[in-house]
Amino acid sequence: MQTADRAARVLELLRLRYPTRETHLVAQNAWELLVATVLAAQCTDVRVNQVTPGLFSRWPGPAELARATQEELEEVIHSTGFYRNKATNLLGAARRVTEVHGGEVPRTMAELVQLPGVARKTANVVLWGAYGINEGIAVDTHVKRIAFRMGFTESVDPVQIERDLMDIFPRDAWGDVNHMLVWFGRHVCDARAPRCGECEMIEVCPRHGVGQKDGAAPRKTAGRAPVKAVGKAAGKAGTAGTAKAAPSNSASRSSATSPAKPRNGGKP
Ligand code: SF4
Repeated sequence: MQTADRAARVLELLRLRYPTRETHLVAQNAWELLVATVLAAQCTDVRVNQVTPGLFSRWPGPAELARATQEELEEVIHSTGFYRNKATNLLGAARRVTEVHGGEVPRTMAELVQLPGVARKTANVVLWGAYGINEGIAVDTHVKRIAFRMGFTESVDPVQIERDLMDIFPRDAWGDVNHMLVWFGRHVCDARAPRCGECEMIEVCPRHGVGQKDGAAPRKTAGRAPVKAVGKAAGKAGTAGTAKAAPSNSASRSSATSPAKPRNGGKP
């Protein structure tokens, strides 16, 4: 089967497994999504969702956060890890958003990656999650691993992996591809123990790099579990790749297909 055909089948199977858009990070607007995504680096989504309510209550937007001190912010985000760098970046981003962009998170990749602490991955998450813009595919550790195993890339460079994926998935699915692959990586295609024996993708997956020492199940299809629609997940392994936020001009719904996650009613 050609790569494009396999990609189409993978997308179809992912949509069967994940028919609804479950959010990972709780955010009400583009600024909150940007902050949450920065905090989620090397941190679980659960932890970030515990920290952000206090942060946004104390500093509701970039203008308020820009007036915070490094020490104040470090104290609030301490539990997310790497808090010094994160605080420095968030304060820098708050100042730039306030001073250069009039308090609104920019809507272009070129402008977003000028913000401290924001690279393509975070920018893709914000563009899609907050504004419904499919500019690229956020490549985090799950996407990177699964793309390789599925034979969609041979690169280890996130930028090249993103290009490879953009070539084979339709543009209107780019945000969803990231979103669903992150869930899929958590639920099935685990880094150390991929559950190939119960994976519906095995019909189209060459399982590149997967061996017995990885904990992979034997390559067989008999008896594998049927595809199940999966809703919420445990929020393990923060990758910040899949959050959806309400558009900045709307407080009541997300930009694309799913309702924004209420800050106090989201995942644990
Ligand atoms: S068959 Fe195995 S390696 Fe391929 S996607 Fe499924 S769990 Fe991952």
